[in-house]
Parts: sequence; C-alpha cells; structure tokens
Amino acid sequence: MKIMVLNSGSSSIKYQIFDMRDRSVLASGLLEKIGEPDSRLTHQTRNQEGRFETVAKTTAVADHTQGFDLINSVLRETGALTDMTELAGIGHRAVHGGEAFTRPTLINQDVIDTIRDLIPLAPLHNPANLTGIEVAMAGAPEVPQVAIFDTAFHQTLPPHAFHYALPQELYRKHAIRRYGFHGTSHFFVAKKTARILERPLDELSLITLHLGNGASAAAVQNGGSVDTSMGLTPLEGLIMGTRCGDLDPAIIFYLARETDRSFEAIDALLNKASGLRGICGVNDMREISRLAAEGNADAQLAIRMYVYRLRKYIGSYAAVLGRLDALVFTGGIGENAAQIRYETCRNLDFFGIVIDEAKNNQPSREAREIQSPESRVRILVVPTNEELEIADQTTLVLQKENLV
Ligand code: ADP
Repeated sequence: MKIMVLNSGSSSIKYQIFDMRDRSVLASGLLEKIGEPDSRLTHQTRNQEGRFETVAKTTAVADHTQGFDLINSVLRETGALTDMTELAGIGHRAVHGGEAFTRPTLINQDVIDTIRDLIPLAPLHNPANLTGIEVAMAGAPEVPQVAIFDTAFHQTLPPHAFHYALPQELYRKHAIRRYGFHGTSHFFVAKKTARILERPLDELSLITLHLGNGASAAAVQNGGSVDTSMGLTPLEGLIMGTRCGDLDPAIIFYLARETDRSFEAIDALLNKASGLRGICGVNDMREISRLAAEGNADAQLAIRMYVYRLRKYIGSYAAVLGRLDALVFTGGIGENAAQIRYETCRNLDFFGIVIDEAKNNQPSREAREIQSPESRVRILVVPTNEELEIADQTTLVLQKENLV
C-alpha cells in the first residue's frame, strides 16, 4: 500500500511516497521557486538495491497545478509510481485547523470550505495548504485524501491553558485563543518515547521540545497536550531562528508610536528579523555555535537567551504536570546540538533532571536516552518524522472509513 504525503507552501511542494507495508520511503522530493523561471525539482527514488537515486530538474513551473503534473511525471519516469491511482491515499500537511479539526480528517468539499474559513488565523499557511489540496484533488480525483493539522494534537488543552486574559468576546467572536503548532511532531515523539519507556502514553507526563527553525514546547499528559508554547500563531513562546517568541505586547504599540513602523513592518520584524537572527545576525544554530566558540559576544548571548527561555518553559511545564517522567528533545537543534541540550539540562538536578555528558555528546541518528543513572527524569533525543506520522495518520483514517 502506497501513501503520498504532501506539504504545500506558497512557492514549494514537498512530498514523500511511503510503502506502508514496512513504512519505508520509496521516493521523496522538493519542488521550489514555483512561479519563477528557474523552478527547481530535486527528486529521489529508491532503486532495487535500496539506494536513493537523485534527479534534478530546473524548468519554469508557473503554478502548483503544473508543479503537481511535473511531480507526477517524474514519479512515473523514475518508476516510483505507475500512476497516481496506485496510491491508497494522499495525506496533506495542514497548518491551522482552528477548533474545527481535532483529528486527521478525510477531505471533502465541507472540509475545504472550513480550511478556507480559517485563513484569517493562518493567512500565510492555510492558502498554500488549500492550493495543494485542491490541485491534488483535481490531479488525482479517485485517490482519497486526508488533512493532518498541526494544531489538532493541542485541541486537548484545558480552557484555563488555551484562553488569553482578554475580554471573552474576542474568543467568542474572533476565535482568539492558544492553538499551538508542531502537533504532528510532538505527538510522534511522545508516542515513540512511550514505546522506549515501555509504558502507555496515557500514563506518562512528558515535556517535548521541538527545536527546529521554528520551536515549541509541549506539556503532555493523559496521552494529549495540556499546554504548549505557541499560541494563536507560531510567534509566541520559545526563541526561534527568526521569531521573537514571548514578548511584552506593549512593545508593538511602542514601536508603532516611536518608530513609525507600519503593523506589516512590525509583523515582519517579529517573525523574520528577530529571535536568534535579531540577537546575533545569524539564525542557523551551527553557525551561531561556531561564532560563540570563537568568542563572538552576540552569538554567546543568543545561546544563553535561547537556553534560558527553554529552562523557563521546562520549569513552568513541570509545575503544570505536577510530575515529570521524561524530557524529550527533537527537531534539527534538539536532535543535533549537544551543547544546547547540555546547557538546558545543567543544574536541574533539584527537578530530578541529570544529563550524562558522554551519552549526550555521542552523535547518533537513533532515538536514545541521555540521562545519568541517578536522573529521576528520563532525558531522550527522539528524531522526529512528521512525514511518517502524516502517512500513519492517513492510513488510520482510510482504515476507519473502510477505504483500504
Ligand atoms: P525546520 O524547522 O525548518 O524543519 P530543522 O528541524 O531542520 O528546521 O532545524 C534547523 C535548525 O537545526 C537550524 O538552526 C540548524 O542550524 C540546526 N542544526 C542542524 N544540525 C545541527 C547541528 N549538528 N548542530 C547544531 N544545530 C544544528
């Protein structure tokens, strides 16, 4: 059984084809710069020896429809698929499901209309996701398609965690509340942690830290998310590559008043020019670590601030949970930056968190434990795999709907 996972951005389409018999990747690719004269498709197909062969094409792709056709033809040329109808289903990554979607959902016209209604909540992401869905529905009309929402896992947050202290009317009329994101990743690593600890997820209290370009923390209890650091949008919470995270909201009015910036300019400032990039000019953690090691004071400050914010969230989520079984690191930084993990866990022994330096420094691509024997809390590094989680969730929906 083959499942395709699609992640459509405003000018890109990322895809993977899974063989769900062993959940292995058959093919994957990225089409970038859609709408430009030099759109680029980089595609990989697994050959019979199990190695991946790369095909790269640079050609003008005017829109997502042409992009989907190009991907379709490359899949056929490389033997990854004979035809789209060979797919049992397509799983679409969708960013904002609002309160309407609490679980992966089989796509029909109502679902498309509801995702469209949610555009004001995610003006950058939902239109691109919708385009991807519409193009794939038109291009492969006989293949069932499922939407998997970044927000869905956090729909278990209790009201005292998801409400902002604003007039209630703003929630009722404008749906202003905490939604949270990266849900697919938090859920994937939480489930994997439960398997490693050999305990049911619904008996565990976990803090999961997804640290990529975007970053968020989640407190997980009774099998679901009970709090998370991103809010109405992905801007709130941890310090990220280019997003500021938590901020005194009055700074926005101050900036508008004192610097004559428009709200659009402030939006761009907080989302694209802040976070690690704002502090030290660079948003890639590898580069920041290198600069810090060379003595660059701004890079050193950026790392100290990044870690300090993480530690504040760990402390507050430990209080939220009342008990902590495991702290889980994932995402490009969480999986690879041993120094960040070390600094984050240092001197938290009063919380029962004691990291083992040697285990932490051992590079690996596998899920692993890095706590000292005396640590009461297990500390894990779990590589995330959002595409595989989307493929799994798609399969579950197809099974539930008797479509496979
Ligand atoms: P995205 O959120 O775009 O999926 P990733 O999860 O790939 O991003 O994370 C990207 C971040 O991970 C970047 O800041 C990058 O520098 C960091 N990263 C990747 N590998 C390493 C490494 N070996 N050491 C430190 N940081 C790393």
